[in-house]
Amino acid sequence: MEQAAPEPLRLKIDPGSHTTGLALVEETSGKVVWAGELTHQGEAIVERLRKRRAVRRSRRQRHTRYRQARYDNRHRKDGWLPPSLRSRVQNVLTWVQRLRRLCPIAALSLELVRFDTQAMQDPNIAGVMYQQGTLVGFEVKEYVLEKWGRRCAYCDASGVPLEVEHIVPRSRGGSSRESNLTLSCVPCNAQKGTQDIRAFLAHDPERMARILAQAKTPLRDAAVMNATRWALYERLVALGLPVEVGSGGRTKYNRSRQAIPKTHWTDAACVGASTPEDLRNWRTIRPLLITATGRQCRQMRNVEKHGFPCGKPKGPSRSHGFRTGDMVRAVVTKGVQRGTYLGRVAIKSDGYFKLTTSSGVVEGVHARYCRALHRGDGYGYALGSLAALPPQV
Ligand SMILES: [Zn+2]
Repeated sequence: MEQAAPEPLRLKIDPGSHTTGLALVEETSGKVVWAGELTHQGEAIVERLRKRRAVRRSRRQRHTRYRQARYDNRHRKDGWLPPSLRSRVQNVLTWVQRLRRLCPIAALSLELVRFDTQAMQDPNIAGVMYQQGTLVGFEVKEYVLEKWGRRCAYCDASGVPLEVEHIVPRSRGGSSRESNLTLSCVPCNAQKGTQDIRAFLAHDPERMARILAQAKTPLRDAAVMNATRWALYERLVALGLPVEVGSGGRTKYNRSRQAIPKTHWTDAACVGASTPEDLRNWRTIRPLLITATGRQCRQMRNVEKHGFPCGKPKGPSRSHGFRTGDMVRAVVTKGVQRGTYLGRVAIKSDGYFKLTTSSGVVEGVHARYCRALHRGDGYGYALGSLAALPPQV
């Protein structure tokens, strides 16, 4: 019997420091099939390491027996990333591999850089969109926003609409190279008009000198690309799928051309040159909100603020067949906690668990009433809302 072959999908990824957008797009029809937003642990890892460092430092400084110095036998391997960055890369890899097990992914798209400096300098390299100057405008704007810190160069206003401004006006022969561009809010831009910066800022020579100096300095980060994104790119290539890379400017161009609101997952759906002209189905997608929580803690015992152990040593991680983090359904038929609950379990060795439900915490639910719905896998899940309200009928 003939079997219908599923359409191959493209997994598109927009890595962020806090949240990474994921979108599965059917290439032939341009339909968004699934979307997710993966929130990383990032800062929590930094905080835990800081705490551990403080405890160890205080232990070393206490008056204890002499401890011989250890040889300096530790070194970082090539490609080492700080733990908080490594966890981001590994979260994304985990989800790429999970999705590959569930559906036929034929290709990947990854936003690798914020703006494509090469495309900005040489508009002839990449086809008709660059030559028409529409896409290159987006790359330039992203670059200028980054370089000038997303604030008006003349009055330091931020959080307002900003325009790309020519320091020496075009009408006075100023070029459109990024060394002649800065950011300005709408009122300042209107006020400056076609004046030269020397006339406009005659009352504030300090600011003028600062702007002129900063304009000549190219943005350092533009060449030194984001370490996380490159590490992720290398690991994705190693998976053996074709990986297309895109820039943040192109993502923004693709998204705003189709008037799609900005969220992490819609950004992901618009990554790269392969983005369909007409992205379909995005209005009906509710993204899966995935939060990296980690599985458990390696610390065997809690310490108080001076670093001395307190409380009891950590007990077993499994009790009556459950682990902390499992999602369970509990139907309690006896006692004060009688009722039906759905939530995340925190185990205790005596079998009386704590359940965190959407309506609050329930203590003392025994394991015999619980049935596992989902085993804890180091991630929390929720369903997000639509990117835009559905069109009015
Ligand atoms: Zn201003």
